[in-house]
Amino acid sequence: MKGSEKRKKRKLNRLGKITLGSFILFVAVLSYFIWDGIAEQNAAAKRNIQMPPIAVEAVYSKDKESDRIDGKSNIGKDPVVEKNKTDDPNKVDEVVNEEDPKNTEQNIEKNNPDTQEQDEEIDKQKDEAAKHKEELDKHKEEIEKHKQEVEQHQKDVEKQNEEPKKEQKSEQPAKEMPPVEKPKEETKEQAPVKTGKVVYLTFDDGPHAVSKDILILLKKYNAKATFFMLEPNMRNYPDAVKTMVKEGHAVGVHGVTHDTSKVYRSPASFVGEMNKAIEFIQKTTNVQTHLIRAPYGSKPYVTAPYKAAADKEKMILWDWNIDSTDWKLTNGAFVNQVIQQTKQFNNNEPLIVLMHEKPTTLAHLEKILKYYKDNGYEMRALDETMTPVQFK
Ligand SMILES: [Zn+2]
Repeated sequence: MKGSEKRKKRKLNRLGKITLGSFILFVAVLSYFIWDGIAEQNAAAKRNIQMPPIAVEAVYSKDKESDRIDGKSNIGKDPVVEKNKTDDPNKVDEVVNEEDPKNTEQNIEKNNPDTQEQDEEIDKQKDEAAKHKEELDKHKEEIEKHKQEVEQHQKDVEKQNEEPKKEQKSEQPAKEMPPVEKPKEETKEQAPVKTGKVVYLTFDDGPHAVSKDILILLKKYNAKATFFMLEPNMRNYPDAVKTMVKEGHAVGVHGVTHDTSKVYRSPASFVGEMNKAIEFIQKTTNVQTHLIRAPYGSKPYVTAPYKAAADKEKMILWDWNIDSTDWKLTNGAFVNQVIQQTKQFNNNEPLIVLMHEKPTTLAHLEKILKYYKDNGYEMRALDETMTPVQFK
């Protein structure tokens, strides 16, 4: 995970915690006020009963004393019930009929301003409690919403962390990546990953009887390579060419004769040999390749007219920048050559290693594959969109 994304995630987590914390605190304060309100109502109800209004008492007859005792036993119960009891119109009517036919319910209330006031107070508090409850519910909803938002943000951050990893695996070279719209910061941080260790192994002069074993070794190390092949050898080992294509390696051509007096006789003979080999690959594998490597490299043979002829055919000429000299150091000393040149490589070009399909190369090839694997290199096949490495 990148540093900035970690920071971003931590910041997001902190923000989420602060938001939740604030709401929990708010809910606690609200709960306190609601509890306080209810306690106040209860106290008011208690006062109401403990100080029975004179007018009501006067209205109540002696034989209604039991009602009053009942009322007392209601202390701590719902003040609404208590209030209804006091206001019970039947009771009042009953009493009024007995004692004073002129008295009405209205009169009772008028005669008892304290009760009226307390009732109003209770109503007001009830309204407030209801209002608080509504607010509480609303805030609960908001908390839920914020929680969901925080979760969504966390998912988004995780998604963003996965995307750069996918890009690292991409086979496309840096210059081929379409200009994806990304935050500037991210692009800056990805740069070092992009230049990550990639090496392009190339094998010339094949195919050969050892091609099969070379392909097995490459597979073992999950390595892709590029083969620049001679037309007569392909005719001898067409199955090797097919396997190369099937296993994701790149196939290119190296001409027909490998004889300087013939291949470099003229620009036409140069491209003629290349085209003959290209046609064979097309016929055998259905792959239309444009990758070519000049016998002995492009210097000094491939002069401007040769180059122009090749360009006209849209051929892509590849040289190399790590020479194994495996054709000379047949005892395996070429392995160290490759490692030393790789360590000293300080070029912006891709690493292109030249080897040959020879038994003596196969005999020591695994050491090279192991070196690159152990040192975190990805071994890739050349692709036609890359700018070719050429001798200057
Ligand atoms: Zn060659």
